[in-house]
Amino acid sequence: MVECCGVAKAFGEVRAVDDLDLRVEQGQVLVLLGPSGCGKTTALRLIAGFEKPDSGRISISGSPVAGPDAWSPPERRKVGMVFQDGALFPHLTVRQNAAYGLQQRDGRADRTLEALRMVGLDMLSERMPHELSGGQQQRLALARALAPGPDVLLLDEPFSNLDPQLREQVRQDVIDLLRTSDATAVFVTHDQEEALLLGDLVAVMHEGRIAQLGPPEEVFHRPASRFVAEFIGMADFVPGQMNEHELLTEIGTLTVDARLPLGAGAEVLLRPSDVAIYASSQGTGKVVDRVFKGTHYLYSVALPSGMVLRSLQDHSAYFRDGDMVKVALAPNRTLMAFARNGAMGTDELGAPILGYTRRISGQQDWKDVS
Ligand code: ATP
Repeated sequence: MVECCGVAKAFGEVRAVDDLDLRVEQGQVLVLLGPSGCGKTTALRLIAGFEKPDSGRISISGSPVAGPDAWSPPERRKVGMVFQDGALFPHLTVRQNAAYGLQQRDGRADRTLEALRMVGLDMLSERMPHELSGGQQQRLALARALAPGPDVLLLDEPFSNLDPQLREQVRQDVIDLLRTSDATAVFVTHDQEEALLLGDLVAVMHEGRIAQLGPPEEVFHRPASRFVAEFIGMADFVPGQMNEHELLTEIGTLTVDARLPLGAGAEVLLRPSDVAIYASSQGTGKVVDRVFKGTHYLYSVALPSGMVLRSLQDHSAYFRDGDMVKVALAPNRTLMAFARNGAMGTDELGAPILGYTRRISGQQDWKDVS
C-alpha cells in the first residue's frame, strides 16, 4: 500500500530523512517511533505529499506518487491525515467538518453519516467542535479523514493532547476502528507504549534513518542495536566477559552460541523482569529505590561494583531501602548481549549475540542454582 525506497529530505544542513526504506501492506498499521527530531513527521509529510523528497521514490497503492519522474499533490494521493490537535474547523458543525473532504457527487450525506457512526458521533452531528470533549474532537478528526475512503490513513501523534485516561480510551477506540475497517495506516508517535500497542510493525527511527523495522515483539525482545534497546522499554546493561561458551557477568552466567574470543567483552541487555532479587543472608546487592506500580514494585539495586540495576517484582516481594538482597539473572531467559567497543572487530554498537540463562524445571528452586 505504501512503499518508500531510498527517500531523503534535507532542510539546509539538517538531513531530516535519510535513505528511508519501508513498506506497509494492505490492512497493516505501521508505527514510526523515535526521539524528538529523528524525522518521523517529515517522513509522514513526504508520504502525504506535503514535502517533496530530494531523492528516492514513494508509491501508494502501487502507483508512483513521488520520485525523479513522478509527482502527485496531496489531494490526489487518497490519503487521510489526522493531526495532533485535530485541526477541526471551529465555525463548522460536526457534520460539516466530517463532510469537508467529500464532494456532492460522492454521496456526501451518506458517507458523512457512516463515518460519524463509525466513531460514535452520529447523535452529535449538529454540535459545534467546542461543544465536544477532547476525545470526541479527535474522533471527529478521524471521521473526517476516513469519510472519503482513503487508501491510507496517516496519523501524527493524534492522542498527545489528551489527558492520560482519555488517551487510553480514545486509543483503544481507534485501534478497534482501524482493525474493523481493515485500514492501512502510518502512525507517528514518540510514546513507546503506544507504538507496541498499536503497530503491526514498528519502525524505530534515529537521525533520519530506520534503526529497526519489525513486529513489536521482535523490536522489543531482539533489538538490533543498543540505541533501539534503550529507546524502547527500560534497559540496563551489565558488562560480561567471555569464558569458553559462557559470558560471565556480575550477577550470573549466560551460555552463548556465538564463537567469541576468550576475554571478549560484551554488554548484556537486561529488562527489569530479567533481574531477580531475593532475600539472602549472603546478598551483596543493596536496595536503593522502590517504585510502587500497583501490581508490581520496581526496585533499584546497587551491586558491589556500584552499578545499579532495576528489577520488577510482584507486589508480594516487599523490600525496604537499604535491605541487602541476592541479585541474579532470572532463569529460563534468552537475553541479548552487544559486543563491547572494538571487541570481535565490530564497531561501538556491536553485533547482537543471544545468550541463555540457567534452564530449570518446574520442580527445581532456581534460587538454589542461581
Ligand atoms: P518531533 O517528535 O519533535 O515532532 P520528529 O521526529 O517528527 O520530531 P521532524 O519534525 O521530522 O522530527 O524533524 C526532523 C528534523 O528536521 C529536525 O531537526 C527539524 O528541526 C528539522 N525540520 C523539520 N521540518 C523543517 C523545516 N520545515 N525547516 C527546517 N527544518 C526542519
